[in-house]
Amino acid sequence: MRNYLSVSSAVFALFFALAMSSIPQTGHAQDGKPGWSIAIHGGAGTLDPDKMTAEQKAAYEAALQNALDAGKEILANGGSAMDAVKAAIIPLEDDPLFNAGRGAVFTWEGRNELDASIMDGRDRSAGAVTGVTTVKNPILLADKVRIESPHVFLMGEGAEQFASENGLETANPEWFATERRLRSLERMKADKLSALDVDHKFGTVGAVALDMDGNLAAGTSTGGMTGKRWGRIGDAPVIGAGTYADNRSCAVSATGWGEYFIRVGVAQEICTRLRYRFRMDVAAIQSVVPKDADGLPTYIIHASEFPLSAQSAQEEADQVMAEVKELGGDGGIIMVTPEGHALYSFNTTGMYRGRATSDGLNEVAIFAEE
Ligand code: ASP
Repeated sequence: MRNYLSVSSAVFALFFALAMSSIPQTGHAQDGKPGWSIAIHGGAGTLDPDKMTAEQKAAYEAALQNALDAGKEILANGGSAMDAVKAAIIPLEDDPLFNAGRGAVFTWEGRNELDASIMDGRDRSAGAVTGVTTVKNPILLADKVRIESPHVFLMGEGAEQFASENGLETANPEWFATERRLRSLERMKADKLSALDVDHKFGTVGAVALDMDGNLAAGTSTGGMTGKRWGRIGDAPVIGAGTYADNRSCAVSATGWGEYFIRVGVAQEICTRLRYRFRMDVAAIQSVVPKDADGLPTYIIHASEFPLSAQSAQEEADQVMAEVKELGGDGGIIMVTPEGHALYSFNTTGMYRGRATSDGLNEVAIFAEE
């Protein structure tokens, strides 16, 4: 019994040290000061370093850093995760490099039809729009739906009528249309290719954030997939598939082959797993706390002193992405947790991505091996 106790004390000490050691790698509370974290993406897909010139790479990196900076500035000044998510997504929607807002892919009929969604982890309020053609920044419309309407999800003309009643900035179809995306559609039709053949990468944009008040938020915006028809809607505007935020677990934004992300319910599945993982990890560490003479634990682990480790969060996200792959889909996600971990998981050769935290992490990357 004595031995058992000393072994379990050692295990307990190790567990506890491991749990605590995860704090400095994140944007969460250090020395009593609250922290913040943010992660962004600009799409995942088949990205080959040999097929990208140094100038193209620099242009993508600059665009990602610019979006990251916009979100960081808000969070570092005590602003909300919701504002940071919108601030990071807007420049990506306005940038023709990405498949969202300006630069969106074309439908089969040659239009740019935009989807977006946003979710506030405080109360799980959410807004989403699909098939929008005139609103300059669909992420702002999604947020208006969240705040000003009794609904979560609006489509097409109705969404546009709601946008005009709420004074959203509009743009002509020419604003969204780019030569590059039009050529993809033409190539798809001429060579009878699939959307995946012409897109190679998905190009959707998204952001997730934790603010200094401990609130999480997530948002995603896209043009969908080249040549989409019959009113096809992907995962990006579907709450629970492409976007999810819940202060109890995580905030996720996804990019990839939308049909699979809807089927797996990727964003919510990751958050739900984290909620249970946290409980399981707390129970596991409690179980190795030494017992007193009466067999009662000498110490009760309080959830607040046990942050979920980055490794646990990463494992859960990777498992969900593995399910997507098993079904035949691909893509990736970005995620932040209440502990401040800012993580990615993707099963493609690259994902345009970036992350930053209050303890100095700042990174933008494109290829898997970066
Ligand atoms: N997920 C998006 C969709 O299926 C595409 C993307 O991520 O670029 O519509």
